[in-house]
Amino acid sequence: MRTNVITSLTKRVAPQLNYLSRYRSTASTCTTYDLVIVGGGIVGCATAREMIMRHPNMKMAIVEKENALARHQTGHNSGVVHAGIYYTPGSMKAKLCVEGLKLSYEYFCKNNIPHKKVGKLIVAQNPTQVKRIDDLFDRGTKNKVPDLQIVEKDCISKYEPKCKGEKAIWSPWTGIVDWAVVCKSFAEDFQKMGGEIFLNFEVNGFTEMAESKGKSQLAPISVQSKSKCIPTKYVLTCAGLHSDRLAVMTGCDLSPRIVPFRGEYLLLNDNKRHLCTTNVYPVPDPRFPFLGVHFTPRVNGDIWLGPNAVLAFAREGYSWFDINVRDCIEMAKFPGLYKLCFRYFVPGCMEMIKSIFYPLAVKDLQKFIPEVTYRDVKRGPAGVRAQALDKDGKLVDDFVFDGGTGTIGSRVLHCRNAPSPAATSSMAIAKFIADKLDRDFKF
Ligand SMILES: Cc1cc2nc3c(=O)[nH]c(=O)nc-3n(C[C@H](O)[C@H](O)[C@H](O)COP(=O)(O)OP(=O)(O)OC[C@H]3O[C@@H](n4cnc5c(N)ncnc54)[C@H](O)[C@@H]3O)c2cc1C
Repeated sequence: MRTNVITSLTKRVAPQLNYLSRYRSTASTCTTYDLVIVGGGIVGCATAREMIMRHPNMKMAIVEKENALARHQTGHNSGVVHAGIYYTPGSMKAKLCVEGLKLSYEYFCKNNIPHKKVGKLIVAQNPTQVKRIDDLFDRGTKNKVPDLQIVEKDCISKYEPKCKGEKAIWSPWTGIVDWAVVCKSFAEDFQKMGGEIFLNFEVNGFTEMAESKGKSQLAPISVQSKSKCIPTKYVLTCAGLHSDRLAVMTGCDLSPRIVPFRGEYLLLNDNKRHLCTTNVYPVPDPRFPFLGVHFTPRVNGDIWLGPNAVLAFAREGYSWFDINVRDCIEMAKFPGLYKLCFRYFVPGCMEMIKSIFYPLAVKDLQKFIPEVTYRDVKRGPAGVRAQALDKDGKLVDDFVFDGGTGTIGSRVLHCRNAPSPAATSSMAIAKFIADKLDRDFKF
Protein backbone atom coordinates (compact mmCIF):
# COMPACT_ATOMS: atom_id res chain seq x y z
CA MET A 1 0.00 0.00 0.00
CA ARG A 2 2.89 2.30 0.92
CA THR A 3 4.40 1.97 -2.55
CA ASN A 4 1.26 3.46 -4.00
CA VAL A 5 1.36 6.49 -1.78
CA ILE A 6 3.39 8.63 -4.12
CA THR A 7 1.35 7.75 -7.17
CA SER A 8 -1.75 8.80 -5.32
CA LEU A 9 0.11 11.85 -4.02
CA THR A 10 0.88 12.94 -7.56
CA LYS A 11 -2.76 12.62 -8.49
CA ARG A 12 -3.86 14.54 -5.43
CA VAL A 13 -1.41 17.44 -5.66
CA ALA A 14 -1.62 18.02 -9.40
CA PRO A 15 -4.87 20.03 -9.24
CA GLN A 16 -3.47 22.05 -6.35
CA LEU A 17 -0.38 22.91 -8.36
CA ASN A 18 -2.56 24.16 -11.19
CA TYR A 19 -4.50 26.17 -8.66
CA LEU A 20 -1.31 27.72 -7.33
CA SER A 21 0.01 28.52 -10.77
CA ARG A 22 -3.19 30.38 -11.64
CA TYR A 23 -2.76 32.71 -8.66
CA ARG A 24 0.98 32.70 -8.41
CA SER A 25 1.68 36.39 -7.84
CA THR A 26 -0.83 37.24 -5.13
CA ALA A 27 -0.71 36.03 -1.57
CA SER A 28 -4.26 37.12 -0.82
CA THR A 29 -5.93 34.97 -3.47
CA CYS A 30 -4.20 31.61 -3.04
CA THR A 31 -3.40 29.35 -0.09
CA THR A 32 -0.73 30.65 2.20
CA TYR A 33 1.41 28.43 4.41
CA ASP A 34 3.00 28.80 7.82
CA LEU A 35 5.95 26.59 6.88
CA VAL A 36 7.22 25.24 3.57
CA ILE A 37 9.85 22.50 3.65
CA VAL A 38 12.02 22.24 0.55
CA GLY A 39 13.28 18.70 -0.16
CA GLY A 40 11.39 15.41 -0.01
CA GLY A 41 14.27 13.29 1.31
CA ILE A 42 14.24 11.64 4.72
CA VAL A 43 15.43 14.74 6.61
CA GLY A 44 12.74 16.97 5.06
CA CYS A 45 9.94 14.42 5.50
CA ALA A 46 10.89 13.44 9.08
CA THR A 47 11.05 17.11 10.09
CA ALA A 48 7.77 17.94 8.34
CA ARG A 49 6.11 15.08 10.27
CA GLU A 50 7.59 16.22 13.58
CA MET A 51 6.52 19.85 12.99
CA ILE A 52 2.94 19.00 12.08
CA MET A 53 2.65 16.72 15.12
CA ARG A 54 3.74 19.65 17.30
CA HIS A 55 1.60 22.25 15.52
CA PRO A 56 -1.47 20.49 14.09
CA ASN A 57 -3.25 23.77 13.31
CA MET A 58 -0.50 25.19 11.15
CA LYS A 59 -0.56 24.95 7.36
CA MET A 60 2.53 23.17 6.06
CA ALA A 61 3.79 21.83 2.74
CA ILE A 62 6.75 19.87 1.41
CA VAL A 63 7.99 20.83 -2.07
CA GLU A 64 10.15 18.37 -4.01
CA LYS A 65 11.70 18.84 -7.44
CA GLU A 66 11.39 15.20 -8.54
CA ASN A 67 8.20 13.35 -9.44
CA ALA A 68 8.57 11.16 -6.35
CA LEU A 69 9.98 11.42 -2.83
CA ALA A 70 13.30 9.88 -1.72
CA ARG A 71 14.79 10.00 -5.21
CA HIS A 72 18.36 10.85 -4.19
CA GLN A 73 20.47 10.02 -1.12
CA THR A 74 17.49 8.62 0.79
CA GLY A 75 16.68 6.17 -2.00
CA HIS A 76 20.29 5.30 -2.87
CA ASN A 77 22.09 4.18 0.25
CA SER A 78 23.28 1.05 2.04
CA GLY A 79 20.05 0.69 3.99
CA VAL A 80 21.88 0.17 7.28
CA VAL A 81 20.39 1.17 10.63
CA HIS A 82 23.61 2.29 12.30
CA ALA A 83 24.14 1.80 16.02
CA GLY A 84 26.45 4.82 16.55
CA ILE A 85 29.85 3.19 17.18
CA TYR A 86 32.16 5.39 15.11
CA TYR A 87 31.34 8.94 16.09
CA THR A 88 33.26 11.17 18.51
CA PRO A 89 31.72 10.78 21.98
CA GLY A 90 29.65 13.81 22.90
CA SER A 91 29.28 14.94 19.25
CA MET A 92 25.89 15.65 17.75
CA LYS A 93 26.42 12.83 15.27
CA ALA A 94 26.92 10.31 18.09
CA LYS A 95 23.98 11.55 20.14
CA LEU A 96 21.56 11.80 17.22
CA CYS A 97 22.52 8.40 15.84
CA VAL A 98 22.01 6.51 19.10
CA GLU A 99 18.72 8.34 19.74
CA GLY A 100 17.69 7.90 16.09
CA LEU A 101 18.33 4.14 16.24
CA LYS A 102 15.93 3.73 19.17
CA LEU A 103 13.25 5.94 17.64
CA SER A 104 13.59 4.21 14.26
CA TYR A 105 13.06 0.70 15.62
CA GLU A 106 10.03 1.88 17.59
CA TYR A 107 8.63 3.50 14.44
CA PHE A 108 9.30 0.42 12.25
CA CYS A 109 7.46 -1.85 14.71
CA LYS A 110 4.48 0.48 15.12
CA ASN A 111 4.11 0.98 11.35
CA ASN A 112 4.92 -2.54 10.11
CA ILE A 113 7.96 -1.41 8.14
CA PRO A 114 9.97 -4.44 7.02
CA HIS A 115 13.38 -4.45 8.72
CA LYS A 116 15.82 -6.96 10.18
CA LYS A 117 18.18 -6.67 13.13
CA VAL A 118 20.93 -8.66 11.37
CA GLY A 119 23.77 -7.15 13.44
CA LYS A 120 27.20 -6.07 12.30
CA LEU A 121 30.79 -7.26 12.56
CA ILE A 122 33.62 -4.72 12.28
CA VAL A 123 36.61 -6.87 11.44
CA ALA A 124 40.33 -6.09 11.90
CA GLN A 125 42.78 -7.65 9.47
CA ASN A 126 46.17 -6.56 10.88
CA PRO A 127 47.81 -5.39 14.14
CA THR A 128 47.17 -1.68 13.44
CA GLN A 129 43.48 -2.39 12.93
CA VAL A 130 43.39 -4.62 16.02
CA LYS A 131 44.52 -1.61 18.06
CA ARG A 132 41.80 0.52 16.40
CA ILE A 133 39.19 -2.13 17.27
CA ASP A 134 39.88 -1.50 20.95
CA ASP A 135 39.58 2.28 20.41
CA LEU A 136 36.33 1.82 18.49
CA PHE A 137 34.91 -0.41 21.20
CA ASP A 138 35.78 2.30 23.71
CA ARG A 139 34.04 4.94 21.56
CA GLY A 140 30.95 2.81 21.09
CA THR A 141 30.74 2.17 24.83
CA LYS A 142 31.09 5.90 25.57
CA ASN A 143 28.35 6.58 23.00
CA LYS A 144 26.12 4.11 24.90
CA VAL A 145 25.71 1.80 21.91
CA PRO A 146 23.81 -1.17 23.38
CA ASP A 147 25.30 -4.66 23.84
CA LEU A 148 28.61 -4.26 21.97
CA GLN A 149 30.97 -7.21 22.27
CA ILE A 150 34.61 -7.83 21.42
CA VAL A 151 35.02 -11.00 19.34
CA GLU A 152 38.36 -12.80 19.34
CA LYS A 153 39.78 -14.33 16.14
CA ASP A 154 38.53 -17.89 16.77
CA CYS A 155 34.96 -16.78 17.47
CA ILE A 156 34.41 -14.58 14.39
CA SER A 157 32.95 -17.51 12.46
CA LYS A 158 30.25 -17.95 15.13
CA TYR A 159 28.78 -14.63 13.98
CA GLU A 160 29.53 -14.94 10.24
CA PRO A 161 30.56 -18.50 9.30
CA LYS A 162 32.67 -17.63 6.24
CA CYS A 163 34.31 -14.48 7.64
CA LYS A 164 38.02 -14.27 8.52
CA GLY A 165 39.88 -11.69 10.60
CA GLU A 166 42.14 -11.07 13.60
CA LYS A 167 39.61 -9.49 15.96
CA ALA A 168 36.16 -7.94 15.65
CA ILE A 169 33.39 -5.95 17.28
CA TRP A 170 29.88 -7.42 17.24
CA SER A 171 27.00 -4.94 17.28
CA PRO A 172 23.70 -6.85 17.63
CA TRP A 173 21.50 -3.74 17.27
CA THR A 174 22.70 -2.76 13.81
CA GLY A 175 19.99 -3.53 11.30
CA ILE A 176 18.75 -3.12 7.74
CA VAL A 177 15.76 -1.33 6.25
CA ASP A 178 14.77 0.41 3.02
CA TRP A 179 15.10 4.10 3.97
CA ALA A 180 12.99 5.17 0.97
CA VAL A 181 10.05 3.18 2.42
CA VAL A 182 10.58 4.88 5.79
CA CYS A 183 10.70 8.32 4.14
CA LYS A 184 7.45 7.69 2.28
CA SER A 185 5.82 6.52 5.49
CA PHE A 186 6.85 9.79 7.21
CA ALA A 187 5.31 11.66 4.27
CA GLU A 188 2.11 9.65 4.57
CA ASP A 189 1.87 10.55 8.29
CA PHE A 190 2.45 14.20 7.38
CA GLN A 191 -0.38 14.11 4.86
CA LYS A 192 -2.75 12.37 7.25
CA MET A 193 -2.22 15.24 9.69
CA GLY A 194 -3.12 17.82 7.01
CA GLY A 195 0.28 18.50 5.39
CA GLU A 196 0.49 18.89 1.62
CA ILE A 197 3.13 17.63 -0.78
CA PHE A 198 3.95 19.24 -4.11
CA LEU A 199 6.06 17.12 -6.46
CA ASN A 200 7.76 18.41 -9.63
CA PHE A 201 8.31 21.70 -7.79
CA GLU A 202 11.96 22.76 -8.21
CA VAL A 203 12.64 25.81 -6.07
CA ASN A 204 14.69 28.38 -7.98
CA GLY A 205 14.34 31.40 -5.70
CA PHE A 206 12.68 33.12 -2.77
CA THR A 207 11.11 36.56 -3.21
CA GLU A 208 9.35 39.01 -0.95
CA MET A 209 5.59 39.21 -1.50
CA ALA A 210 4.68 42.80 -2.35
CA GLU A 211 1.42 42.63 -0.33
CA SER A 212 3.27 41.68 2.84
CA LYS A 213 5.76 44.51 3.03
CA GLY A 214 5.48 45.99 6.51
CA LYS A 215 2.64 43.60 7.48
CA SER A 216 4.18 40.86 9.56
CA GLN A 217 0.92 38.91 9.91
CA LEU A 218 0.92 38.00 6.21
CA ALA A 219 3.09 35.43 4.48
CA PRO A 220 6.01 37.51 3.28
CA ILE A 221 7.95 34.89 1.31
CA SER A 222 7.13 33.51 -2.06
CA VAL A 223 8.80 30.14 -2.75
CA GLN A 224 9.37 30.19 -6.49
CA SER A 225 9.69 27.49 -9.09
CA LYS A 226 9.76 27.89 -12.87
CA SER A 227 6.01 28.24 -13.25
CA LYS A 228 4.52 28.28 -9.75
CA CYS A 229 4.91 29.94 -6.39
CA ILE A 230 3.82 29.26 -2.82
CA PRO A 231 3.38 32.05 -0.26
CA THR A 232 4.62 31.19 3.22
CA LYS A 233 5.69 32.72 6.51
CA TYR A 234 8.71 30.47 7.07
CA VAL A 235 10.88 28.08 5.10
CA LEU A 236 13.10 25.13 5.98
CA THR A 237 15.38 23.74 3.29
CA CYS A 238 16.69 20.14 3.41
CA ALA A 239 17.95 19.90 -0.16
CA GLY A 240 20.79 17.36 0.20
CA LEU A 241 22.98 17.53 -2.91
CA HIS A 242 21.70 21.06 -3.68
CA SER A 243 21.74 22.47 -0.15
CA ASP A 244 24.47 25.06 -0.90
CA ARG A 245 22.56 26.37 -3.93
CA LEU A 246 19.39 26.88 -1.88
CA ALA A 247 21.38 28.70 0.83
CA VAL A 248 22.92 31.08 -1.70
CA MET A 249 19.40 31.99 -2.87
CA THR A 250 18.78 33.77 0.46
CA GLY A 251 22.16 35.52 0.49
CA CYS A 252 24.13 32.96 2.53
CA ASP A 253 27.80 32.28 1.96
CA LEU A 254 28.73 29.79 -0.78
CA SER A 255 30.74 27.79 1.76
CA PRO A 256 30.42 24.95 2.65
CA ARG A 257 30.12 23.78 -0.93
CA ILE A 258 28.63 20.45 -1.90
CA VAL A 259 30.85 18.13 -3.91
CA PRO A 260 29.21 14.92 -5.14
CA PHE A 261 30.96 11.62 -4.37
CA ARG A 262 29.48 8.56 -6.00
CA GLY A 263 29.36 5.33 -4.01
CA GLU A 264 29.10 2.31 -6.31
CA TYR A 265 27.98 -1.14 -5.16
CA LEU A 266 28.64 -4.62 -6.49
CA LEU A 267 25.90 -7.21 -6.25
CA LEU A 268 26.58 -10.76 -5.03
CA ASN A 269 25.13 -13.42 -7.33
CA ASP A 270 22.02 -15.16 -5.99
CA ASN A 271 23.77 -18.54 -5.63
CA LYS A 272 26.35 -16.97 -3.26
CA ARG A 273 23.99 -15.14 -0.94
CA HIS A 274 24.61 -17.73 1.80
CA LEU A 275 28.15 -16.34 2.18
CA CYS A 276 26.86 -13.27 4.00
CA THR A 277 24.18 -13.14 6.69
CA THR A 278 25.17 -10.03 8.63
CA ASN A 279 26.77 -6.64 7.91
CA VAL A 280 30.55 -7.10 7.62
CA TYR A 281 32.55 -3.86 7.79
CA PRO A 282 36.26 -3.08 7.73
CA VAL A 283 37.87 -1.01 10.48
CA PRO A 284 37.55 2.53 9.08
CA ASP A 285 40.73 4.35 8.14
CA PRO A 286 40.69 7.57 10.23
CA ARG A 287 42.20 9.53 7.30
CA PHE A 288 39.03 9.07 5.24
CA PRO A 289 35.45 10.17 5.94
CA PHE A 290 33.74 7.03 4.63
CA LEU A 291 33.31 3.74 6.47
CA GLY A 292 34.92 1.56 3.80
CA VAL A 293 33.61 -1.09 1.45
CA HIS A 294 31.34 -3.47 3.34
CA PHE A 295 29.04 -6.48 2.88
CA THR A 296 25.40 -5.53 3.43
CA PRO A 297 22.39 -7.82 3.24
CA ARG A 298 19.28 -6.02 1.93
CA VAL A 299 15.73 -6.43 3.17
CA ASN A 300 14.78 -8.05 -0.19
CA GLY A 301 17.49 -10.72 0.21
CA ASP A 302 20.13 -9.17 -2.09
CA ILE A 303 23.69 -8.70 -0.85
CA TRP A 304 25.39 -5.41 -1.72
CA LEU A 305 29.15 -4.96 -1.58
CA GLY A 306 30.38 -1.39 -1.33
CA PRO A 307 30.15 1.53 -1.60
CA ASN A 308 33.42 2.96 -2.94
CA ALA A 309 33.91 6.74 -3.20
CA VAL A 310 34.67 8.40 -6.56
CA LEU A 311 34.20 12.02 -7.58
CA ALA A 312 31.00 12.32 -9.64
CA PHE A 313 30.75 14.60 -12.68
CA ALA A 314 27.18 15.57 -11.79
CA ARG A 315 25.44 16.19 -8.48
CA GLU A 316 23.06 13.44 -9.42
CA GLY A 317 25.64 11.46 -11.35
CA TYR A 318 24.84 7.81 -10.74
CA SER A 319 27.27 6.53 -13.40
CA TRP A 320 30.51 7.61 -15.12
CA PHE A 321 28.40 8.72 -18.08
CA ASP A 322 26.28 11.21 -16.12
CA ILE A 323 27.97 14.55 -16.78
CA ASN A 324 26.43 17.91 -15.92
CA VAL A 325 28.21 20.89 -17.43
CA ARG A 326 27.07 23.39 -14.78
CA ASP A 327 28.14 21.06 -11.95
CA CYS A 328 31.54 20.43 -13.60
CA ILE A 329 32.20 24.15 -14.16
CA GLU A 330 31.32 24.94 -10.55
CA MET A 331 33.64 22.20 -9.31
CA ALA A 332 36.43 23.40 -11.61
CA LYS A 333 36.10 26.89 -10.13
CA PHE A 334 36.18 25.69 -6.52
CA PRO A 335 39.72 25.83 -5.04
CA GLY A 336 38.69 23.63 -2.09
CA LEU A 337 38.23 20.68 -4.45
CA TYR A 338 41.80 21.03 -5.83
CA LYS A 339 43.13 21.02 -2.28
CA LEU A 340 41.12 17.91 -1.48
CA CYS A 341 42.25 16.12 -4.68
CA PHE A 342 45.88 17.00 -3.91
CA ARG A 343 45.57 15.65 -0.36
CA TYR A 344 43.91 12.38 -1.41
CA PHE A 345 45.55 12.00 -4.83
CA VAL A 346 46.82 8.41 -4.49
CA PRO A 347 43.81 6.87 -2.68
CA GLY A 348 41.48 8.85 -5.00
CA CYS A 349 43.15 7.37 -8.10
CA MET A 350 43.03 3.88 -6.57
CA GLU A 351 39.29 4.23 -6.01
CA MET A 352 38.81 5.25 -9.65
CA ILE A 353 40.89 2.33 -10.94
CA LYS A 354 38.95 -0.14 -8.77
CA SER A 355 35.69 1.42 -9.94
CA ILE A 356 36.61 0.79 -13.58
CA PHE A 357 38.26 -2.65 -13.03
CA TYR A 358 35.94 -3.98 -10.38
CA PRO A 359 37.67 -7.39 -9.95
CA LEU A 360 40.37 -5.36 -8.14
CA ALA A 361 37.76 -4.23 -5.61
CA VAL A 362 36.85 -7.88 -5.01
CA LYS A 363 40.39 -8.46 -3.72
CA ASP A 364 39.64 -6.10 -0.80
CA LEU A 365 36.46 -8.02 -0.06
CA GLN A 366 38.24 -11.40 -0.13
CA LYS A 367 40.20 -10.36 2.97
CA PHE A 368 36.91 -10.71 4.85
CA ILE A 369 35.15 -13.52 3.03
CA PRO A 370 37.81 -15.36 0.98
CA GLU A 371 35.26 -17.52 -0.84
CA VAL A 372 33.94 -14.52 -2.82
CA THR A 373 35.53 -14.36 -6.28
CA TYR A 374 35.11 -11.80 -9.04
CA ARG A 375 32.90 -14.30 -10.91
CA ASP A 376 30.42 -14.15 -8.02
CA VAL A 377 29.66 -10.44 -8.40
CA LYS A 378 28.26 -8.03 -10.94
CA ARG A 379 27.93 -4.25 -11.04
CA GLY A 380 25.08 -3.01 -8.86
CA PRO A 381 23.40 0.30 -8.08
CA ALA A 382 25.07 3.52 -6.94
CA GLY A 383 24.34 6.47 -4.66
CA VAL A 384 25.78 9.98 -4.57
CA ARG A 385 26.88 11.52 -1.26
CA ALA A 386 26.45 15.24 -0.71
CA GLN A 387 29.93 15.87 0.70
CA ALA A 388 30.26 19.34 2.20
CA LEU A 389 33.70 20.93 1.73
CA ASP A 390 35.01 24.17 3.19
CA LYS A 391 37.20 26.68 1.31
CA ASP A 392 40.35 24.83 2.38
CA GLY A 393 39.08 21.57 0.97
CA LYS A 394 38.42 20.15 4.45
CA LEU A 395 35.54 17.72 4.75
CA VAL A 396 32.77 19.14 6.92
CA ASP A 397 31.68 16.32 9.18
CA ASP A 398 29.05 18.00 11.31
CA PHE A 399 25.59 19.47 10.82
CA VAL A 400 25.57 22.98 9.37
CA PHE A 401 22.58 25.31 9.68
CA ASP A 402 22.40 28.70 8.03
CA GLY A 403 19.89 31.48 7.58
CA GLY A 404 20.35 34.98 6.32
CA THR A 405 19.31 38.52 7.01
CA GLY A 406 16.44 40.77 5.93
CA THR A 407 12.79 39.85 5.53
CA ILE A 408 13.47 36.64 3.68
CA GLY A 409 16.76 35.48 5.19
CA SER A 410 15.54 35.87 8.76
CA ARG A 411 12.58 33.55 8.04
CA VAL A 412 14.51 30.76 6.33
CA LEU A 413 16.51 27.96 7.93
CA HIS A 414 18.84 25.95 5.70
CA CYS A 415 20.03 22.50 6.73
CA ARG A 416 23.23 22.63 4.68
CA ASN A 417 24.85 19.42 5.80
CA ALA A 418 23.12 16.32 7.14
CA PRO A 419 25.96 13.81 6.95
CA SER A 420 25.66 10.02 7.08
CA PRO A 421 24.13 8.35 9.07
CA ALA A 422 21.39 10.95 8.65
CA ALA A 423 18.87 8.30 7.58
CA THR A 424 19.33 6.40 10.85
CA SER A 425 19.33 9.66 12.81
CA SER A 426 16.44 11.23 10.85
CA MET A 427 13.82 11.10 13.63
CA ALA A 428 16.28 12.56 16.15
CA ILE A 429 17.46 15.18 13.61
CA ALA A 430 13.79 16.06 13.07
CA LYS A 431 13.34 16.75 16.80
CA PHE A 432 16.54 18.79 16.85
CA ILE A 433 15.50 20.91 13.84
CA ALA A 434 11.94 21.29 15.16
CA ASP A 435 13.31 22.61 18.49
CA LYS A 436 15.42 25.07 16.51
CA LEU A 437 12.47 26.20 14.38
CA ASP A 438 10.29 26.62 17.48
CA ARG A 439 13.02 28.65 19.17
CA ASP A 440 14.20 30.77 16.22
CA PHE A 441 10.80 31.43 14.62
CA LYS A 442 8.75 31.39 17.87
CA PHE A 443 6.18 28.90 16.56
C1 LIG B 1 26.05 5.76 -0.91
C2 LIG B 1 25.41 6.18 0.38
C3 LIG B 1 25.27 5.25 1.44
C4 LIG B 1 24.68 5.65 2.63
N1 LIG B 1 24.40 4.69 3.58
C5 LIG B 1 23.69 5.02 4.69
C6 LIG B 1 23.26 4.03 5.60
O1 LIG B 1 23.48 2.84 5.40
N2 LIG B 1 22.59 4.42 6.71
C7 LIG B 1 22.31 5.74 6.96
O2 LIG B 1 21.73 6.04 8.02
N3 LIG B 1 22.67 6.71 6.09
C8 LIG B 1 23.33 6.37 4.95
N4 LIG B 1 23.66 7.33 4.03
C9 LIG B 1 23.33 8.72 4.32
C10 LIG B 1 21.85 9.03 4.07
O3 LIG B 1 21.36 8.38 2.93
C11 LIG B 1 21.71 10.54 3.89
O4 LIG B 1 22.41 11.20 4.93
C12 LIG B 1 20.24 10.98 3.94
O5 LIG B 1 19.48 10.24 3.01
C13 LIG B 1 20.14 12.47 3.65
O6 LIG B 1 18.79 12.80 3.50
P1 LIG B 1 18.38 14.24 2.96
O7 LIG B 1 16.91 14.32 3.09
O8 LIG B 1 19.23 15.26 3.65
O9 LIG B 1 18.87 14.26 1.44
P2 LIG B 1 18.20 13.67 0.12
O10 LIG B 1 17.67 12.30 0.34
O11 LIG B 1 19.23 13.81 -0.95
O12 LIG B 1 16.97 14.61 -0.15
C14 LIG B 1 17.08 15.94 -0.60
C15 LIG B 1 15.89 16.22 -1.48
O13 LIG B 1 15.87 17.59 -1.83
C16 LIG B 1 15.39 17.69 -3.16
N5 LIG B 1 15.79 18.98 -3.72
C17 LIG B 1 17.05 19.42 -3.95
N6 LIG B 1 17.04 20.65 -4.49
C18 LIG B 1 15.72 21.02 -4.58
C19 LIG B 1 15.07 22.18 -5.07
N7 LIG B 1 15.74 23.21 -5.59
N8 LIG B 1 13.71 22.22 -5.04
C20 LIG B 1 12.98 21.18 -4.53
N9 LIG B 1 13.58 20.05 -4.06
C21 LIG B 1 14.93 19.96 -4.08
C22 LIG B 1 16.04 16.51 -3.87
O14 LIG B 1 15.41 16.16 -5.06
C23 LIG B 1 15.94 15.44 -2.78
O15 LIG B 1 14.77 14.66 -2.91
C24 LIG B 1 24.25 6.98 2.81
C25 LIG B 1 24.38 7.90 1.77
C26 LIG B 1 24.93 7.50 0.56
C27 LIG B 1 24.97 8.48 -0.58
